Amino acid sequence: MVDQHARNLEIDSLQILREALNKLDNGFSALKPAAIPSDHQALENVLFEVAERLKDNYPYFHPLYAGQMLKPPHPVARLAYMLAMWINPNNHALDGGKASSQMEKEAVAEIAKMFGWDTFLGHLTSGGTMANLEALWVAGQFNPSGKIVASKQAHYTHSRISAVLKLDFASIPNDRRGRMDIDALKKLLDLGNIGTVVATVGTTATGSIDPLPDLLNLREKYGFRIHIDSAYGGYFKLADNLSPETAAVYERINEADSIVVDPHKHGLQPYGCGCVLFRDLSVGRFYKHDSPYTYFSSTELHLGEISLECSRAGATAVGLWATQKLLPLEKGGEFALGLQSGREAALALWEKLRADKRFITAFPPELDIIFWAPHAKSVSASSEMARKLFAAAEEKQLYLALANLPVEFFDLPAGMQPDSDTITCLRSVLMKPEHRAWVDEIWNIIDQVAGDTPA
Ligand SMILES: *Cc1c(COP(=O)(O)O)cnc(C)c1O
Repeated sequence: MVDQHARNLEIDSLQILREALNKLDNGFSALKPAAIPSDHQALENVLFEVAERLKDNYPYFHPLYAGQMLKPPHPVARLAYMLAMWINPNNHALDGGKASSQMEKEAVAEIAKMFGWDTFLGHLTSGGTMANLEALWVAGQFNPSGKIVASKQAHYTHSRISAVLKLDFASIPNDRRGRMDIDALKKLLDLGNIGTVVATVGTTATGSIDPLPDLLNLREKYGFRIHIDSAYGGYFKLADNLSPETAAVYERINEADSIVVDPHKHGLQPYGCGCVLFRDLSVGRFYKHDSPYTYFSSTELHLGEISLECSRAGATAVGLWATQKLLPLEKGGEFALGLQSGREAALALWEKLRADKRFITAFPPELDIIFWAPHAKSVSASSEMARKLFAAAEEKQLYLALANLPVEFFDLPAGMQPDSDTITCLRSVLMKPEHRAWVDEIWNIIDQVAGDTPA
């Protein structure tokens, strides 16, 4: 038997699922029983094999996993999702997912409200890529010949999506803090024909925040659309420990034309949960289609009528709804405090790295993502060493990430040869609330492996 207190996976809550399933089953008690037979032994055999196979993973759920953007779904999200699996609703149309479509509308309205929108058009998607695709597709419907622009540090998906949509795309250089360079944007605007500016609020590599107030001023003059890609950073709207400059961006996020946020990144959801929101309800007209077989029972708006995807998992909406019920999207609430504590962890670890001569750091973290490089005789030697430290940390069960970043993000110390334009550095996303309590442990391992690895 596994010692309850010594285990790493949260398992106790499964008892609640059993009771909740009984309740759900009661809801259908008027039906003639039609239980589907199942062979327990065969199920068990396969499931045990699956458990064996799944051991081959990094421990994403553990605080010493501090690498990529991965965090476990909240138990309530897992349970509600599983509960919905017995129904397997389809949120394309109200017929296929009656309760879960309603739950999607409520949950999405709460996300829109977090950004300051009481009226909006929006829905869940399979992820941030699909959500951004819808936003750029709508942008293209407004202005088919207008260019889409995003910074070089924007997610790679924007240039690819633009190609899929056959929209012109241009990338804008970044400043030394990974933000869109406004002067470079102005030059491009003066050449004309910019349809949409994608502002990344929380870049995937470094958590940098594009200067939205400047973009809003430029919009007055040039009249482009502003799409906010806050797939990663959107929920930090609720955090109260941001820098004043970053807080000022979140303050005005409601002035954008569209917003993307990923509940499967910082919203405690299983994968398969992105969200796109439009400020202008009338964009619904672009989605109009005529599907003869999907709508039968209701004259109400079907989510499938405002989504490019047809079938979508109702379970996703159920998981999200349950999570927001338990942890409402409120400033000062438990959910917001969790984000704040990840950010505190990032600031604390960054301070330790900054104070240590074995490492070089760059601008302070805007969110909960940090990156640093080993101090070495040249940029290429530093990159080489970062790869070694990454592997050495893994040996000690600290899971970090590597990132390729422009060298100009760093202030290179005197004597460090800039023999490359990009540097492979170490990166850590401290996105679990528990990370705050593990900073010393994480630092000890970084410290040890740096000591063990000669320059
Ligand atoms: C993760 C991310 C995306 C892509 O979202 P997926 O959910 O992985 O498809 C897009 N933009 C940003 C800023 C992201 O961080």
